[in-house]
Amino acid sequence: MEDITVFSHLDCIAKDNGENHPERKERLEVILDSIKSISQLNISFKDSPLADFKIVNLVHPQSYLDDLLSMVPISGLVGLEKEPYADTILCPQSKEAILRACGAGIESANELMSGETKRLFCAVRPPGHHAETIRANGFCFINNAAVTARYLQSKFNLKKIAIIDFDVHHGNGTQEIFYKDKSVFYGSIHQHPLFPGTGMEAETGVGNIFNAPISSDTTRDEFMKILKNVDLFEPEVILISAGFDAHKRDPLASINLESEDFYTLTKNIVEIAKRHSNGRIISFLEGGYDLQALSECIEGHLKALSS
Ligand SMILES: [Zn+2]
Repeated sequence: MEDITVFSHLDCIAKDNGENHPERKERLEVILDSIKSISQLNISFKDSPLADFKIVNLVHPQSYLDDLLSMVPISGLVGLEKEPYADTILCPQSKEAILRACGAGIESANELMSGETKRLFCAVRPPGHHAETIRANGFCFINNAAVTARYLQSKFNLKKIAIIDFDVHHGNGTQEIFYKDKSVFYGSIHQHPLFPGTGMEAETGVGNIFNAPISSDTTRDEFMKILKNVDLFEPEVILISAGFDAHKRDPLASINLESEDFYTLTKNIVEIAKRHSNGRIISFLEGGYDLQALSECIEGHLKALSS
């Protein structure tokens, strides 16, 4: 059984999106409680560092970050986008939360490549997979997985990284960032039609993008097809954009996965990592908005990650 390192930080809990916002601090509190209750696994918790701007700049230009952080309010909340997407919100704690969420991925990469552990989970918010090179949206500001992929390539000279995204929404940001980059595979399965509206099968990048848009009546077995092309890519490290909003209880989507499906899905990814990636996986929390589902799914996700 593999040890797991979990990176998180209280600053990520402090991020406030206002009343009745689905991306709320209780999500992360429930997740950390769930992880701490798993007695069978050897899990070490570590504080996420603040991300170094120079590393974030591997994906997002400093001008974008300066503009974004200049909008962080001293008090109250600021919505970044116009209706109907005015729900990507900055609060006084946003700078620290955003940089800790990204720093979790960067420090995970350092720990992974030091050989200390092969399985890491970034229990962070805000999430990242909707964040494009110069556009925050969908509750996301910095693309945590994308920065980690670029960092793994630049610092450790890795050639091929795969990002597998099973959040129920398409990771438009991750796709945009790597659309013309054949060194990064991006595979996403997501409900369609649904926010953000991208992710059609015809969007294939330079042969490195694999999209599986599915309707709300898609069966659980169908959901696994996201994985069929990853083997061919033979990635050196696998990153997971782990959203748990395809669960049947989730309020933002209508796919009917059960909690145990996230164990199976993760287990299948672990098998691919063992075949091609020396077992190396970093998983990032993305969406998932029902607290009970999150608690159950995270337990299965980590148990499978440790296998
Ligand atoms: Zn989502």
